[in-house]
Amino acid sequence: MQTITTVAELRRALASDRRAGKRVGFVPTMGYLHDGHLTLVEASRLQSDVTVVSVFVNPTQFGPNEDLSTYPRDFARDEKLCRDANVDIVFAPDAREVYPGRFETFIEPGELAKPLCGAFRPGHFRGVATVVCKLFNMVQPDIAFFGQKDFQQCAVVRHMAVDLNLPIEIVTVPTVREADGLAMSSRNRYLSEEERRRALAISRGLFAAVDSFRAGEREVEKLVSLAKGHLDEVDRLQYVELVDQDTLKAAESPLCRPAAMCAAAYVGSTRLIDNVILA
Ligand code: AMP
Repeated sequence: MQTITTVAELRRALASDRRAGKRVGFVPTMGYLHDGHLTLVEASRLQSDVTVVSVFVNPTQFGPNEDLSTYPRDFARDEKLCRDANVDIVFAPDAREVYPGRFETFIEPGELAKPLCGAFRPGHFRGVATVVCKLFNMVQPDIAFFGQKDFQQCAVVRHMAVDLNLPIEIVTVPTVREADGLAMSSRNRYLSEEERRRALAISRGLFAAVDSFRAGEREVEKLVSLAKGHLDEVDRLQYVELVDQDTLKAAESPLCRPAAMCAAAYVGSTRLIDNVILA
């Protein structure tokens, strides 16, 4: 496995693979890797010949009062996990390599970036779309892997790839959960034991909606209030919404198209998100 920190070196490292016609798979991450990330790596290993994992905590997707400076980092551990997972290249540029002086060109996503997290994190998806596009240009993958856990991010990235004619297949990998249902996230490490227990209310609420949907419930309000009923243990609920899987617009009753139930909540000072698909 190679660890690479500059774009020039990355291009050199991938040139011969590309000449040999190898399929390059790409897994963008912000590091502090867990089994969710490693499942994306596994998917890439299965569907490509060379797997590149980027580890970059992207400053442009954090708001001024968010956790950029405290975001968990442990690069030595990430490197070891990648080596053990047979990653070919870890690309870990620093912020100056990605955003050299006078950087001023951004990707502005449209309607898909407005609801849900977009309403609470202004500029977040602009930062995400910009860095993903830049990383795509650096790595030039044939196929890239994203987790369903960040459902709105997947939608924004897919749409960007279509709008900008990016010749990259975008694959969404199902959310990986702890045994008790909590969606894996690098931010889970912020949680105290007591917060960790209360954080379970999020997945419990979403699963309750799935059960009710499977039992035949198709009324949006009933499904949403069922999920909300479980969420009184969180400290600050930002949203629980049922949205159309493709447009992210509010789903309508009776549900007759695949919909995503998405939630974001603070437990202590940690913001957690999760979602399930009702289809
Ligand atoms: P992050 O490092 O949090 O930016 O995540 C990097 C990639 O891993 C994104 O595509 C995430 O959606 C994905 N990811 C994060 N957590 C999970 C999870 N629990 N299950 C599946 N994918 C995940």
